[in-house]
Amino acid sequence: MSDTDVIIVGGGLAGTLLALEIEKLGGRALLVDDSLRDAATPVAAGLLNPVTGMRLSPTPGASMLIPTAIDTFRTLEQKFARTIFREMPLFRAYSNEGERALKARRAGEPDAARWFGDEVEPQAVHPALNAPLGGFMIVGGGWVDLPALLAGAREHFSPCDARPTDGPQPKSSVRLLQQRFTHAELEILPKGAGVRWRGESARHIVFCEGAGVRANPWFSHLAWQPAKGEFITCDTDLDDGPDFALKIGLMAIPLGAGRWRVGSNYEWEKLDTEPTPAVRESLLAGFAKMFRHPVRATVTDHRAGVRPASKGAKPIVGRHPEHPALHVFNGFGAKGCTWTPAYAREYATRLV
Ligand SMILES: Cc1cc2nc3c(=O)[nH]c(=O)nc-3n(C[C@H](O)[C@H](O)[C@H](O)COP(=O)(O)OP(=O)(O)OC[C@H]3O[C@@H](n4cnc5c(N)ncnc54)[C@H](O)[C@@H]3O)c2cc1C
Repeated sequence: MSDTDVIIVGGGLAGTLLALEIEKLGGRALLVDDSLRDAATPVAAGLLNPVTGMRLSPTPGASMLIPTAIDTFRTLEQKFARTIFREMPLFRAYSNEGERALKARRAGEPDAARWFGDEVEPQAVHPALNAPLGGFMIVGGGWVDLPALLAGAREHFSPCDARPTDGPQPKSSVRLLQQRFTHAELEILPKGAGVRWRGESARHIVFCEGAGVRANPWFSHLAWQPAKGEFITCDTDLDDGPDFALKIGLMAIPLGAGRWRVGSNYEWEKLDTEPTPAVRESLLAGFAKMFRHPVRATVTDHRAGVRPASKGAKPIVGRHPEHPALHVFNGFGAKGCTWTPAYAREYATRLV
């Protein structure tokens, strides 16, 4: 018999939600994570946004993905007794008149109307905002406090040396091992019988390594297209600023008490996790442009991470064609909050 059902490599949003779904189904997992060294999750802006991109297209499947995500985040809020999700509309400013017509067309498409809120005429825009063409509200999404989610899960999981046979029942059937997973030590058992790693045997191993997948010997060849991104957090004098998120060129999220998170850029060449002064300046300048009057903003945090994106801008999830015990669960790109909860719920049923 295997020690565990699944070894999960990587404890960002993907590995964490998959582990929690496995636990919910009564399964056992060993989650191996090297303390979020290069993770995208703790540096993500955390927007759950059903309508993205220049074409104002609702994410395909949004009518299933978004409610599943909200249900997951709300359930985890209860489980971990901490705030994780806030409903938050997003004001999207028109950058040209063509966008107004495009929005009207999109809102008329089947299943799309629920994400398109009120049209906001220029004279009705919040007085602080610089949106001369007006815009519209995107509704139904919100903001996810991803660091709070990760911290709650880490407290909830059992330490890696807790086993059901060791006396008192561990609190979670997911054990967390905060270490680097070494691919060279993985033994793949014949005839799809599972895997063994450092004396731990499992029926499946799922790689949720985010952009770290590029060092994975079995899945690095897939169509990955990682993209570095940076954001800043600033304290401002915007005491009566808007209480909704903004897409006016850049994205800005109000965190309360005049604090804003502003992001983000896309960089495909230099894929390190170093924040850069030039991007910080351009984010600050972009934030200033969102307002009619000068805003005093002091940067209190500046971070960078690599989005685990794919060339088709879709998740890459499934079994290895030659080694059925090996799985990849990755490629959630810029939409981890939207995609990962539903994918984790579904994929866990194939592992337990
Ligand atoms: C600047 C920025 C802004 C973003 N904004 C948003 C947003 O507003 N909304 C949204 O939905 N998404 C956003 N994203 C995307 C989101 O962050 C990702 O989709 C999601 O977090 C990916 O989660 P993941 O678990 O796949 O990867 P990660 O979070 O990168 O986690 C991978 C984990 O695997 C670990 N790991 C890798 N290799 C090994 C190994 N060999 N051994 C042990 N551990 C290993 C890493 O240390 C890490 O902890 C943003 C991303 C960035 C960078």
